Amino acid sequence: MHDPGASARDVEAENESLRARLDYLVEQAERNHEIMCRHQAFDLEIVGSDSFQALIGTIFSSLPAIAGLDIVTLSLVDQDADIRTVMDKLGVDFNDFPHMIFVDSVAALGFVPSRSEVFTGPPKPMLGPYHPAGHQPMFPNQPPGLQSIALVPLLRNKRLIGSLNLGSLDPTRFTPAMATDFIEHMASIIAICLENVISNEMLKYIGLTDSLTGVYNRRYIDRRLLEEIGRARRQAYRISCLYIDIDHFKLVNDSSGHQGGDEVLREVAARIKAELRLSDALGRFGGEEFVVLLIDANLDSATQVAQRILQSIAGTPFTLSGGERLTVSVSIGVATLDDFERDHAIEGVAQALVAHADTALYKAKEGGRNRVVSFV
Ligand code: GH3
Ligand code: MG
Ligand code: MG
Repeated sequence: MHDPGASARDVEAENESLRARLDYLVEQAERNHEIMCRHQAFDLEIVGSDSFQALIGTIFSSLPAIAGLDIVTLSLVDQDADIRTVMDKLGVDFNDFPHMIFVDSVAALGFVPSRSEVFTGPPKPMLGPYHPAGHQPMFPNQPPGLQSIALVPLLRNKRLIGSLNLGSLDPTRFTPAMATDFIEHMASIIAICLENVISNEMLKYIGLTDSLTGVYNRRYIDRRLLEEIGRARRQAYRISCLYIDIDHFKLVNDSSGHQGGDEVLREVAARIKAELRLSDALGRFGGEEFVVLLIDANLDSATQVAQRILQSIAGTPFTLSGGERLTVSVSIGVATLDDFERDHAIEGVAQALVAHADTALYKAKEGGRNRVVSFV
């Protein structure tokens, strides 16, 4: 028999359950929206990073929080250590980034299949339990109790450039059955940003260095000198300048060929550099001329550094790659920034400092070469 009261109760119960389900869905949608907003803010932040340091800094500081992860690391393929060398020269201190890992080859990333598997297309993310034997290298400074991980390939034009490694203390956070489109999307943005900042930093580096010797070029030294003079005035320390010119370099080219001359240039640069402090700057000003900026050095200590350079070059013969041995010497002019120059415009002071060192160099040449002359 039909019971109208019972059917009304059914409808009410169904309403109730629908409402509860709706509340749940709304709550879920709000949570998803909030997650999406956080990820969008993250995307904007990494897209806006204008240096390698800023980019990896953002990845390591923001991603664990917004994605609810216990560890995030980044492996980058850097076959000949080019990236490391350039970033190091541009002043990146990798001690600040314990989760940054450089590997020598794509194979070290852990995506290359074993011989039995057929490799089809670019690698996919690998999700699942953490196995110390295989995964420890991707998580060198991990928190205790790591349970599940995702290794997400970073791909540029189907080329594997690295991997984004995500780890969680929750064993259910990453499982092999999970959908990966979201983390793949995130990894594709990170890969583009990485490639972009790395090539920008490489360009910056190329624009500031001399390709033959690897030391700075004239443009860099000119700019650095202006900065250093400003700083030296504020902090009241002395800057000195060495102008170094190889003696009779034409003869080196004549006897050992241009190739041999180039080798001598590289070795001279290396020997000068070995006598300097990290804060000093060495540049090739063209041809066989080098300029050194000595920070916090007065005329006396600059002259001592110049004497050491002179000794290190003339004191030990050069051996070229063909086995030929030759003795090389340099002449060095030394000048220092005087206190009274505080009142003058920085550009003029910078030019005068280099010109004074050049004048002293000229005197060293006149005086017989293989010697140091200080500008007084
Ligand atoms: P001095 O003792 O008076 O300095 O004599 P020098 O022969 O060194 O004099 P000079 O400055 O006239 O000669 C410099 C030579 O350096 C001339 C040029 O052929 C050579 N040179 C300039 N740039 C390069 C280079 O990049 N590689 C090589 N191998 N030689 C170079
Ligand atoms: Mg010269
Ligand atoms: Mg010369």
